[in-house]
Amino acid sequence: MSNLVRDTAIALRFAPHSNSSRFVVWFGREQGRFVTLIRGAQRPKSFFLGQCDLFATSDIVFYRHPRHPVHLARECALVRARPVLRRDWRAAAAASYASDLLQRSLPREEPHPRLYNVVSDWLDTLGSPRPVEPDLCWFELAYLAAEGLAPRLQGCVACGAALDAGRPARFVTGRGGFLCGRCDTGPAGSRTFRLGPADLAVLRSWQAAERPRRLDASGVPPETVRRIADLLGDFLRHHLNLPLPSRDLAFEIIRFRPRRAALSPNAGATKIAMGGRVAESADAQDLGSCGVIRGGSSPPSPTNPVAENMRPTETADDRYDPDQPVA
Ligand SMILES: [Zn+2]
Repeated sequence: MSNLVRDTAIALRFAPHSNSSRFVVWFGREQGRFVTLIRGAQRPKSFFLGQCDLFATSDIVFYRHPRHPVHLARECALVRARPVLRRDWRAAAAASYASDLLQRSLPREEPHPRLYNVVSDWLDTLGSPRPVEPDLCWFELAYLAAEGLAPRLQGCVACGAALDAGRPARFVTGRGGFLCGRCDTGPAGSRTFRLGPADLAVLRSWQAAERPRRLDASGVPPETVRRIADLLGDFLRHHLNLPLPSRDLAFEIIRFRPRRAALSPNAGATKIAMGGRVAESADAQDLGSCGVIRGGSSPPSPTNPVAENMRPTETADDRYDPDQPVA
């Protein structure tokens, strides 16, 4: 027996089932993370065509299978397309990492409406003229808060006393917060980060911003953003117990500042060369601001989660396991 279920959901990932059908991993407002099979999704006359897209929101109706983790989609209607994520490759990299984080960390089919609202709100903001790196840090802080793992920034995690104003404070990843000058007796086996008063004020203001549009990153030095991002990355890996290689690649892409390169007249795929890796340009409009190489290059590594989301799904694979994210 199958139950008919309706939800509003964000598409986190597509995976091939056959030449015309595909799996979609969703993050639903009411269902949490779930997987559907869309039969005939890529047939020319399919009524699913154009109704779901990566990082877009759709209304989805599916038959819930009582014992199998993959459910059969019956109807799908696009609600919010977010086309900017097809053009802005930095924003696309950030969204791909967030998608990987959600797939790896969320249990299957458990509702998480607070986190759903965070993700939906953040994706709506992403790709605007705002810098992507502070927005990604905001997402990580909001994700941790929604998961009940928010780092403690307001007082000493050992004694509860206020942190010494005007002096650098040491953040201890394993303890989830800062130590005051009296409790800080030096390294004690856990990774630590020393933040100055200005960096700490920025981190606190970002954690306090309830919506991504309230994030004020204007005038924040890049070194401060980098120190906050390093602290958050270490915190996430430690407390989620996940390696998160997609995070490293996402920040590498976001921080990439291409040099203008001479364009070869050779026709071929447009690639953005980047530190030995190659990512496909999301849109030819980006060519004005990017160093590009036209012509042969190897495709993104299929083992990389970010590249995987950017990779066309063309090959049949009936062994897809929805509970095993891309390694
Ligand atoms: Zn203390």
